[in-house]
Formats: sequence, C-alpha cells, structure tokens
Amino acid sequence: MVYGLVSDIHGNLEALTAVLAEMEGVSQFLCLGDIVGYGADPGECVDRVRELPGLVCVAGNHDLAAIEEYDQISRFNPFARDAIEWTRNQLSAGQRSYLASLQRREQVEEALLVHGSLPDEMAYITAPHEARQCFEAMPGDLTFVGHTHVTEYYRVRDTTSVPEQVSLRSGGRVALESGLRCIVNPGAVGQPRDGNAAASFGIWDSTEATVEVRRVGYDVERAQEKMQRVHLPEHLIVRLAEGR
Ligand code: ZN
Repeated sequence: MVYGLVSDIHGNLEALTAVLAEMEGVSQFLCLGDIVGYGADPGECVDRVRELPGLVCVAGNHDLAAIEEYDQISRFNPFARDAIEWTRNQLSAGQRSYLASLQRREQVEEALLVHGSLPDEMAYITAPHEARQCFEAMPGDLTFVGHTHVTEYYRVRDTTSVPEQVSLRSGGRVALESGLRCIVNPGAVGQPRDGNAAASFGIWDSTEATVEVRRVGYDVERAQEKMQRVHLPEHLIVRLAEGR
C-alpha cells in the first residue's frame, strides 16, 4: 500500500494545496497532526484534510489547543498563543468536533502514528537521546512523528545503542530494512523550520518498505498576505519565507 504522509499543516492552505498536487493518485493518507494554528486558513485546511481518501489522522498540540482540550497552552510562546486564540474563533462547530474526534495514537499496518514522541505524544524529538526514549516505548519498528517541523529520521539496530540522526532537509529516501528500527519525521507542510522554506511531505510504500521524503515550493507570498490581512503575528509571517 502507498500512503501519503502529511504533518504540521498549520492552516497554510497554499502549502497544503501544493503538497496534495504532488501526491495526485495516492489513495490513502496519514496525517501526523497540527492541521491548524499559525496560518490564515485553519477551517479550510481541516476540511481539505478530513476529506482525503483513507485518512488516518492523530491530534497535534495545536489541534487540541484550538478546541481548548490541551491544558498546556501556557507552554506556548506568545506568538503561538495569539495565533491559537485567533484560530479558535475561525472554526465551525463541525470542524471543532472533527478535531475533538482525533486520537493521540493510531496504528496503520506496522507503523505507529503520533504527533511528537512516546511515551508522551506531545514531547519533541530533536536529538538522539530523545529518540532513544521513543524507541524504548515503541511497540514495533516504525513510528511516524511530526511536531518539530524538521525533516529527518532516526535509526537504530538495537535499542541499547545510540540512535543515528539523519537529515532529510533536501528530501531523500529511507529504506526500512528488516531489523532496523526507524522514527521518521516527514517534516512540516505549512511551517518548515529546518532552513528550507519549501513544504515537506512523505510517501510511505509499505510493500517496498521505503519512505520517500520530498520538498515542494509553494506560493509563500500569498500565504503571508492572508496572514497579514487578519493581523496574525509578524514573526509568524516572516518565518515562512525563511523556513525557520
Ligand atoms: Zn506543529
């Protein structure tokens, strides 16, 4: 089976549209959370994502914060908090109840899907020692995560050794060899932070046992203009063009 992998769309409809155009023909989609927050089109993005064929989606911290289910909004920086307060007022009852229906973990074939890590689904994996905690808590050999907005993966042969961190900043291919355990982050669709402003996404072929990660440019200026129009924080607008 071939699955499209998207994560951290963050209300950026221009980026989502560009990514989905690259995945025409993909019949099953997996979403790793944070459909909303930061961008100017949260409701549209929820609608586009929920109608993707075969969709399995987990909740991100911004999705939960937007429906007031996430009690740790105090951990958000001021920009994220302003954006989430704005986002809350943009969602219809139907969009809110869709976000409320999302689970924190989903299993698809041999892969576990979580927004951030394990055992805490909202923790960040930014370094090998954090990946190690996730590897220890993983039931299987493959986990897909988002949350950091950095396109990369971690691999390890046995749980006692230090995981290797591999950048996929310019895209690339992960071979899921047997005996190899992997945590793959396909990167952010709507707000990349790894120095590459292009939208990031993945394609998992479970039969071939590969994950291909690709980057695609999108209309950043249009996304920025829309954010400007609704007075979202300047810092969030500027960072889209920088990919930081
Ligand atoms: Zn995010």
